[in-house]
Amino acid sequence: MAKYQIATIEGDGIGPEVCQSAVTVLQETCGAGVLDFNQYPGGATHYVRSGFVLPEDTFQACRDSHAIFHGAAGMPDVTYPDGTEVGNDLHLQLRFKLDLYANVRPIRLYQGDFSPLKNRASGEIDYVIVRENTEGLYASRGAGVSLRGEVVTDTLVMTRKGIERVARFAFDLSRKRNGAPRDGKRRLTVCDKANILRSYAFFRSVCDEVSKDYPDVEIDYAYADAITVHMVKKPDFYDVIVAENMFGDIISDLGAATVGGMGIAPSGEVGDTHGLFQGAHGSAPDIAGQNIASPLATVLSGALMLRWLSDRHSDSSLLASAQRVERAVEAMLSEKIAIPRDLGGNASCTDVTEAILKHLT
Ligand code: ATP
Repeated sequence: MAKYQIATIEGDGIGPEVCQSAVTVLQETCGAGVLDFNQYPGGATHYVRSGFVLPEDTFQACRDSHAIFHGAAGMPDVTYPDGTEVGNDLHLQLRFKLDLYANVRPIRLYQGDFSPLKNRASGEIDYVIVRENTEGLYASRGAGVSLRGEVVTDTLVMTRKGIERVARFAFDLSRKRNGAPRDGKRRLTVCDKANILRSYAFFRSVCDEVSKDYPDVEIDYAYADAITVHMVKKPDFYDVIVAENMFGDIISDLGAATVGGMGIAPSGEVGDTHGLFQGAHGSAPDIAGQNIASPLATVLSGALMLRWLSDRHSDSSLLASAQRVERAVEAMLSEKIAIPRDLGGNASCTDVTEAILKHLT
């Protein structure tokens, strides 16, 4: 029996194709008997068929497996009566039921050509955004107040426990990295609007308290509006950024754009006991089923999953496998063997997969 059970939900749109690509790469790099990818239904298409976006069996498998691997979920025309998309509920339910409080979004420039920024070389942008994933403004989803069709409110929620744990996660992550590309310094940037709202001032003060336990990591602050400028003008300054839920959501898409776009942006949503890994992009129904989607974000999310499993189970062979995948992606992109369409090339999903497989050393 394989050592690690991975609950796998391919989902909608390009989900199945990018997921299959990543599974092939991960199985090849880890070797036989290490990862067992078990398929479970879920997503918007499944909801149309069954009335369930996350069936109970799928949830139980996710809860009981070592990790969860996901393609993408959502179809624009599959919505609830209030207009919100059904597909999002798949990972939102998993996020809250399994308490996946840290949304990890690595931002790494693999090729200077992929960046819309001038004169940025490969590796010069290399930081991680840690988005608080269970509180903040999005905590109110489905629970805001709508009064007589005239006044609507959503409440921004912050708790000491919620901030402390995500701050600690972000500081620990900085300790595992090599610092910011600009100066090699381990640095945690707290992204907030502490100058405007009490909730954000509280976020900052709790991060400050936690920083006392991490004297080796420099603490830095940036207002959410200012950081959008810094991420464009001095992206090499950043190592790890921690942000409230909605700010983290917004700045991680901006970060992805600076390194080539959503098709190369991985993500992991993790808590103390569970982890869910998927590309940062959506299900892109406009290009689904044509073998033209880029599997890079999903493949790199798979590498992130291996890193997380390696930490949790003190299994250094998984870390080596993750590094092998990342090196293969870097090598095949720098040799311009198979550049996907969203990065300016014309390689298909299968071309990219094969090129990665060839570069696994
Ligand atoms: P969501 O709100 O679920 O994140 P979205 O509607 O914002 O999704 P996506 O589904 O990510 O957006 O798609 C936006 C566009 O980006 C698509 O039309 C598609 O052309 C492109 N895109 C997204 N992912 C990929 C990918 N992996 N490869 C190539 N192009 C992609």
